[in-house]
Amino acid sequence: MERFFLELDPPEEAMRSWPHVVVVGGGFAGLKVCHALARQPVRVTLIDKRNFNLFQPLLYQVASGLVSEADVASPLRQMVGHAPNVQVLLGEVVDIDPEARQVLLNGQHLGYDQLILATGSGSTYFGREEWRSLAPPMKILEHADEIRRRLLMALEEAEQTRDASQRAFLQTVVVVGAGPAGCELAGALIELMERAVRREFKQLRPSDCRVILVDLVDRVLPTMAPELSAAAAGHLEGAGVELRLGMKVEEICPGCVRLIGAVGVTELEAATICWTAGVRASRLGLLLSEHTGCAVDRSGRLVVEPDFSIPDHPEIRAVGDLCCYAHTADGKPLPGMAGPAVQAGGWVARDLLARLCGDTIAPFRWLDLGSMAVIGPWYAVADLRGLHLTGRVGWIVWALAHLAFIPDTENRIALFSKWMWQIATRQRTALLITGRPDQHIGVDVGLFRATRPQRSG
Ligand SMILES: Cc1cc2nc3c(=O)[nH]c(=O)nc-3n(C[C@H](O)[C@H](O)[C@H](O)COP(=O)(O)OP(=O)(O)OC[C@H]3O[C@@H](n4cnc5c(N)ncnc54)[C@H](O)[C@@H]3O)c2cc1C
Repeated sequence: MERFFLELDPPEEAMRSWPHVVVVGGGFAGLKVCHALARQPVRVTLIDKRNFNLFQPLLYQVASGLVSEADVASPLRQMVGHAPNVQVLLGEVVDIDPEARQVLLNGQHLGYDQLILATGSGSTYFGREEWRSLAPPMKILEHADEIRRRLLMALEEAEQTRDASQRAFLQTVVVVGAGPAGCELAGALIELMERAVRREFKQLRPSDCRVILVDLVDRVLPTMAPELSAAAAGHLEGAGVELRLGMKVEEICPGCVRLIGAVGVTELEAATICWTAGVRASRLGLLLSEHTGCAVDRSGRLVVEPDFSIPDHPEIRAVGDLCCYAHTADGKPLPGMAGPAVQAGGWVARDLLARLCGDTIAPFRWLDLGSMAVIGPWYAVADLRGLHLTGRVGWIVWALAHLAFIPDTENRIALFSKWMWQIATRQRTALLITGRPDQHIGVDVGLFRATRPQRSG
């Protein structure tokens, strides 16, 4: 069995006897594990299907052309590859054999002594997978590119369209899901559309720009305090976002979203439809559950032990969005957020090192730093463990927290300067129409997509 690094040369003599820790996923949790294990007496192999770490909280800024892809992503080799005991491998882990202690990637088996799974989560359409191509989610860089591409293509087409109702259709966006990602996206898109249309398009009227935010729940940001929801809703509406809350998406077809709620059925016609409504754990969760009998929750997250291990497999741990960790003070599972993922990654690495020395460390305690959402330039809402902030103060706290979390110094500087530039000038520089969406979304979505639904009668 391959017990060392996947490499042509054997590891340095001194490293051969060190335990081999395989980390799958270089997101918030996996990267933290690797940083904590760098230059420690373990051999670490980090496997990721992408060669970069993605800062998902700022994806909406890529989708709305405020920043570009490289501002929110950092190559994993640059982040951890320089540590002598960390090897980075590009590949997707497609199977795990807990008995043989091996993972399968790129057609090869790789053995491990300790396995840390940090493969995060994806989006779900609650059984309506056919909606995916019509309403792209916002989980990976290509999704954000695709949302930006669809919106900009629609605006370009609108600029050349004589029919006023078709122009209005092309200038309409529906965002499904009024959690932080949906609110941030809606706020950024209305700002982008109104500004761009006012200054740079000659045939379009800003008053025809519509961004409609839809959710089944009757308030935006439902996990935050009601007064913060109200403040965010007020700001969004003031910026021009239309809220359709307490309404369920019943159907999505090309250019149309059908909602059903207490007031009956509503049909929204929109050239651009985005989906931020559902989260499902990475499929490695279900796979491991089938192999080990470990329970998963409704979102497919592995229900883990107090040390993040899988029952009967102390050598396998799951952290971040992939795990359901309910050993908290109030018994509520850790939220699927960056903070808990980073804290869990750091704790698991420390625990692993301590156990190798025959030591133990204090049990995992999650420090809840709160949550926040940015709704527009200079406006954010923040719930910091009971301290509620809104407006400009909220924005400053949001900006500082995000800059602190960004793992790369160059990106930190680039983001800060772009935010300041945008606030000063209201300009966005990353408004490029790029990409071949069929590579990522599975369908060809060219200009024809922006056709209004055909009505009979
Ligand atoms: C649009 C959006 C906005 C968000 N905003 C916020 C916010 O404002 N604040 C906040 O705290 N949280 C936010 N989150 C949530 C936060 O990003 C996640 O909770 C966090 O990324 C989880 O970290 P993770 O390490 O578990 O997974 P991820 O960061 O998702 O990393 C998973 C990694 O695993 C890799 N991978 C997956 N499967 C495999 C495989 N089979 N083989 C190899 N590699 C694999 C992926 O390529 C990825 O690099 C947001 C999420 C999204 C999508």
